[in-house]
Amino acid sequence: MNTVWANRSQVHDDLTTVGGLRDFLGVAADETDLTAFRALRRALRDLAGVLTEDTREVARDRDLDRAVAEVNRAARSARHWPRLAVEGGELVRHNDSEGSPADRERASIAAEAVELFTGADRVLLRACYAPGCVLYFVKDHPRREWCSASCGNRARAARHYRRNRGESPGPNGFS
Ligand SMILES: [Zn+2]
Repeated sequence: MNTVWANRSQVHDDLTTVGGLRDFLGVAADETDLTAFRALRRALRDLAGVLTEDTREVARDRDLDRAVAEVNRAARSARHWPRLAVEGGELVRHNDSEGSPADRERASIAAEAVELFTGADRVLLRACYAPGCVLYFVKDHPRREWCSASCGNRARAARHYRRNRGESPGPNGFS
């Protein structure tokens, strides 16, 4: 979900090319994988948007049914199962799976997403409302308001600027 992010000048997307996806995953990937991962990311951001009642412009046009179907499609993209083995006289567990490395990564991310969106952390999920930010984060501390320290600094600076100049900062919230 954090492969879309913003800095001072604009919103960046790390998954626009197959090379970008390979860098992100650390395994081989092709055009089909890129399309599939972009669809999964869209679904995860839609679900986070629904859960956090995100009112940011970047979170508009979300579709809950489409997102759920996409996560389930991704979760099925590779099967995995536990395998029992005997090593040095001890019983040990291995995790076996089938499918391409990219499919296994996609299934694994989808499974983690199901855990996140249905587990205890789901009520702690937040959209970051710092100027221009597009990220979500888990509020793991009662006073945590932003996804990162730099977003906190930027939000405080924007507030300070507005208070002192009676004006709004630049178009992306940056002065
Ligand atoms: Zn942020």
